[in-house]
Amino acid sequence: MTDDQPFDDLLAANRRYADTFDLQGFDGVARAGVAMVTCMDSRIDPLRMIGLEPGDAKIFRNPGARVTDAALEAIVLGVHLLNVDRVLVIPHTRCAVASSTVAELRYRVSASAGQDVSWHAFHVIEDQEEALKEDIRRIRTHPLVPDDVAIGGFIYDVDTGRLDQRV
Ligand SMILES: [Zn+2]
Repeated sequence: MTDDQPFDDLLAANRRYADTFDLQGFDGVARAGVAMVTCMDSRIDPLRMIGLEPGDAKIFRNPGARVTDAALEAIVLGVHLLNVDRVLVIPHTRCAVASSTVAELRYRVSASAGQDVSWHAFHVIEDQEEALKEDIRRIRTHPLVPDDVAIGGFIYDVDTGRLDQRV
């Protein structure tokens, strides 16, 4: 990355991508009926890790793979308008927000930002297994998520690439 043209390499890659672009004509539904909530972690390749391709799934990512109100909104839209009938929630091993305290994250961000960050929320996960159960419960009990939607909670192992169903 160069400071004056920070996006040049990406735009060049995009031009090559567009030259052979073959994803046109999609209607935006999830063709495999899959929606996934997972972490923003760069070690996660959400489609490839479950054998899917572009067009197959709705992917919602945030730090820690939490089922936030925004994630629930995405799931409700997915289920009712976009062909979703399977929902996977996939946090992962060695996740920064599941292995740090709020104080640690504040300290590190503060050191980087050079200013007090105590006003900013950082949503750490104290018990990943419990958080996953609670997140699955949030989806299951949502009045707009029908009972016939399959909902699963999994942990992704960033060292082996394996998914382990926990809920
Ligand atoms: Zn993570």
